[in-house]
Amino acid sequence: MKILVTNDDGVSADGLWILVRELANIAEVVVVAPDREQSAAGTAVTLWEPLRIRKVHPVVHGVETYAVEGTPSDSVLLALGSLIKGKVDLVVSGINWGLNLGDDIYISGTVSAALQGYLHGCPALAVSAERDSEPGFQIAARLATMLAGRFNASPPADNLFLNINVPNVPLARIGRIQVTRLASESHINTVTEGNDGKRNYYWLVRQRRDGSQGRKTDVWAVDHGHISITPLFTSLPTRTLSALLNNLCSGLLEELTGSAGREYHVALYWCRYHRNRSY
Ligand code: MN
Repeated sequence: MKILVTNDDGVSADGLWILVRELANIAEVVVVAPDREQSAAGTAVTLWEPLRIRKVHPVVHGVETYAVEGTPSDSVLLALGSLIKGKVDLVVSGINWGLNLGDDIYISGTVSAALQGYLHGCPALAVSAERDSEPGFQIAARLATMLAGRFNASPPADNLFLNINVPNVPLARIGRIQVTRLASESHINTVTEGNDGKRNYYWLVRQRRDGSQGRKTDVWAVDHGHISITPLFTSLPTRTLSALLNNLCSGLLEELTGSAGREYHVALYWCRYHRNRSY
């Protein structure tokens, strides 16, 4: 199994290497990621200047690693179009330092990189964990690796694009793995203005709304200690997608926690990603 790993926090980010360390146990991993922080780069691709690539020393021994002077989407396009010969079985983007929930996905470089994989015919996972959450990063890495193993054992008939978010909760206190839909209007966007002595400056400031999201949403799930898995973009009928996700997630939490009898819950809520929006 060959897995492309990328991210938007840059090729040196801890989250990426926590993920690679786990994935490398079950697959051949190639890392192609931006050479610097590219969070909130969204779906941007570089069309008006050339792209440069550097092969860099990997943090995990033996993993072919490239740093791209470009965006997360550039990284995936270069990886699939040139750097990686042969079939890529899965694209995993992350682990992002910070959750990507609701409206976040429209500006998220993490989700956009995974989207490029999906648009090029690969199953894709965008994986994010709550900031400064050591357990969250480890749990997210193990979960992504278990899902990769399941994809490998029985490739889904149609490609899946899943947005995974892990709360800052110890493994023993994770409530369940919940298939969710995206929350809407999950942020309040404000502009802060100031003057540096010469010119005015402006900061765009985003704050999470709280308390207003329904139980079926990704925001509600992580706020209540659950792992959220949101299917994005699919051409599958609801019933088929539901069966596929149920199959994919069956027993996942038990496997993750190593304890039998934990509550297992997967419910499908239709995603809103393909609503007509400009981003
Ligand atoms: Mn990021």
